[in-house]
Amino acid sequence: MRAFIDTPIEYLKGVGPKRGEMLRAELGISTFRDLLLHIPFRYVDRSRLYSVRDVADDTAFIQVRGKITDVLTSGPPRQQRLIALLNDGSGTLELIWFKGIRWVLTQVRPGLEVVAFGKPTIFKGRINLPHPEITPAEEFDASLSTPFQAVYNTTEKLKARGLDSRGLSKLLRTLLGMPEFEVAENLGPDLMHSLRLPGRAEALKEVHQPGHPDRLKRAEARLKFEELFFLQLWLLKHKHLRKEKSRGIVFPKVGEHFNAFYSALPFPLTAAQKNVMREIRKDLGSGKQMNRLLQGDVGSGKTLVALMSMLIAIDNGCQACIMAPTEILAGQHFNTLRQFLQEIPVNIGLLTGSTRQAERRKLHSALEDGSLHILVGTHALLEDNVKFRQLGLVVIDEQHRFGVEQRARLWEKGDTPPHILVMTATPIPRTLAMTLYGHLDYSVIDELPPGRKPVKTLYYTDRDRLKVFHFMRQQIAQGRQIYIVYPLIQESEALDLKDLMDGYESIVREFPAPEFAVSIVHGRMKPADKDYEMLRFKQGETQIMVATTVIEVGVDIPNASVMVIENAERFGLSQLHQLRGRVGRGADQSYCLLMSSLKLTTEARTRLKTMVESTDGFLIADVDMRLRGPGDMMGTRQSGNLDIRIADLVKDEKILTRAREEAIRLLDSDPGLEKPENLRYQWELQDRDKRAGVWSRIL
Ligand code: ADP
Ligand code: MG
Repeated sequence: MRAFIDTPIEYLKGVGPKRGEMLRAELGISTFRDLLLHIPFRYVDRSRLYSVRDVADDTAFIQVRGKITDVLTSGPPRQQRLIALLNDGSGTLELIWFKGIRWVLTQVRPGLEVVAFGKPTIFKGRINLPHPEITPAEEFDASLSTPFQAVYNTTEKLKARGLDSRGLSKLLRTLLGMPEFEVAENLGPDLMHSLRLPGRAEALKEVHQPGHPDRLKRAEARLKFEELFFLQLWLLKHKHLRKEKSRGIVFPKVGEHFNAFYSALPFPLTAAQKNVMREIRKDLGSGKQMNRLLQGDVGSGKTLVALMSMLIAIDNGCQACIMAPTEILAGQHFNTLRQFLQEIPVNIGLLTGSTRQAERRKLHSALEDGSLHILVGTHALLEDNVKFRQLGLVVIDEQHRFGVEQRARLWEKGDTPPHILVMTATPIPRTLAMTLYGHLDYSVIDELPPGRKPVKTLYYTDRDRLKVFHFMRQQIAQGRQIYIVYPLIQESEALDLKDLMDGYESIVREFPAPEFAVSIVHGRMKPADKDYEMLRFKQGETQIMVATTVIEVGVDIPNASVMVIENAERFGLSQLHQLRGRVGRGADQSYCLLMSSLKLTTEARTRLKTMVESTDGFLIADVDMRLRGPGDMMGTRQSGNLDIRIADLVKDEKILTRAREEAIRLLDSDPGLEKPENLRYQWELQDRDKRAGVWSRIL
């Protein structure tokens, strides 16, 4: 039987098929549940009225009570507008509509007493109220018993059909007032007791028809907790199920390769690296497939952790591979690993798009007979003719560049799925990680190896350019190399390229041959030319590399110790941080110079200030999330799938943490949610699976 709140929205009195279809298309409201969860984005104090005399065009929202004195339409048929004059005794205000005029005409008539609500603006030199909400005065007075009016998000199309904020209010009033209205409590009595929050039905009523500020606050907290709790429960349950289902190859021992390598390591592991190794060891011995995300700032030593994990796989008779998003990165990993493994009898190969046929054939057969232990490469690893004898561990570098489907293809390269270790250098705030990666095992390396000199970050405007050139010359004289990065804004590739070329030319003028040599790299170049220029820079043949953000990820040139970022105000924080991570890799003091114009928005100023003051990737990510909002950081696709409607991952961190703790506690005590008192949770999750569709299958 269908629960009351799953009733399709068109069955609500006042909706019907047409408006139902619109609500679905415009706001994603298909059921009573969706309407109930369409929470007001703010509230207005209804008892507060403005007089027309006091209204200025910079006042936020206002409410004016008065009499309609005139109603007139003007303009050609297709650009018609409707103007109603509202007089409150202190003056006259223009109410104006450009759309939905037929509907509005049924609401405003000369002589009618109304309350108009909206945001004033100036139009043709006069203050007016575009697309206000109109409430008949009697109705307004009658509603004053509840002083807060809910304000809902809606769209122009819905407004034109009478479903403005007030229209939605009305629908909710109808719904909440139905005699058969019923919302089942979905949190158990124990949890309710320890949370001291109102019940579900009560909370839903309160947020739509608030009676008291304190009660409203508790109601919001209740709904946020509920939302985050079930999201966490769902993510954790899927993680648990995946582990139950998927057998993993067991690596019982740490053997000779690992030990030989470890005892020859010229430095001790950091405490964070040790912790992560312990976690990985435990996963690999558990008999379940590992699916672990390893997060750590650039230079925190992730590659080393990956290598040691691969050695464990090899010690247990398996092969390993590591996949990087670009050829340059794959080549870099290959060289690093080869150097680390000089004294260890382990065979390692490199496979990319540009690997020659003859070499390819050799690699293929060595993979199949098991004599090749580690394969490093790009997407080329996914090709069907790449067959391992026994693939035990897959390391994926820079996870956000690979899709889920690609990961799945690696799984299929063995009878038992290999263990997966995903490495990312993009710090993610904790609250976001808990949510976005709540279904993965998750490790963080949160300290850098000792003795690193933090990059000095300085901020300059275009007026300081001569000073900057002087500094660059000094650094080059000391044998250092320099990156100069230009922003890439996709809207106008041609303009971007022009900026870059202009910059390049002025640099060449300032740093002329033969004394200096300047490289340039950008996205429009052929990969081979790009690689050639990168190589010249890497080998020290050029001192300056002018580039777009193509160098953002993972390029490792220890001698490059200065990063100049042009138009730094146009970059996002995490991008600035990634770019800065390209320097500070050698023994010398490194510098990051942020160049910008004089005029900055407040937000841009905050970004640049944060960069100057901090090198802590997690702190920077946190500021970034506060500036941009969590949805933006996740990418809209993913945040949409997670279906967070009420809570805010930035502001509601405390509630989120509590929700996750409670979800973990519950699953620890009853992993299958089979106890009678926990069945309600099981049902709720089943519901969620249905709603999530395909997404729940790839978790
Ligand atoms: P990431 O992959 O996280 O960017 P890497 O693994 O490339 O970091 O490490 C960066 C550099 O630090 C490498 O040169 C590596 O050899 C070195 N390194 C890694 N771990 C340590 C450690 N515990 N102590 C000192 N140096 C380390
Ligand atoms: Mg690395």
